[in-house]
Amino acid sequence: MTVPNDPTPAPASAAPPKPTRLAPIVTLDAKFFWEAADKGEFVGERCADCGEFRFPPRPMCPRCHSVRREVVKLSGHGKVYSWILPRHPMPFGFKESPIVAVIELEEGYRLVSNLYEVPFEQVRAGMPVEVFFAPTMGNHQVPVFRPRAK
Ligand SMILES: [Zn+2]
Repeated sequence: MTVPNDPTPAPASAAPPKPTRLAPIVTLDAKFFWEAADKGEFVGERCADCGEFRFPPRPMCPRCHSVRREVVKLSGHGKVYSWILPRHPMPFGFKESPIVAVIELEEGYRLVSNLYEVPFEQVRAGMPVEVFFAPTMGNHQVPVFRPRAK
């Protein structure tokens, strides 16, 4: 899969371009998230007692202190909360800076990701977005977002 403004130029041969994006750093608490992403699934962690979403994933619920948790499939839909275009230093592995955005998910929490398929000048707060996956080194994938048709 190739995403717009992916820094890897398409070769003339049939071989797909190798991703230059760094693979995610996987912690024990977030292992479920990255393993799901590798399969193209967007999941989150919720408290099995009170239902509070935990992000980033962690051993104990910040609301009720339960250590019981469940992994649930997320809608993949959200809205742009804020965004920037990093210029210096250039993010490693990119020839062209990706838009870095805070996405507010339908499930009620925010995460930092990249925004594609929209020029920086057209990004707006509250813009509806949907998840898709960008390849990384080491045959992994990371969730990124693009505008969603209403
Ligand atoms: Zn809880």
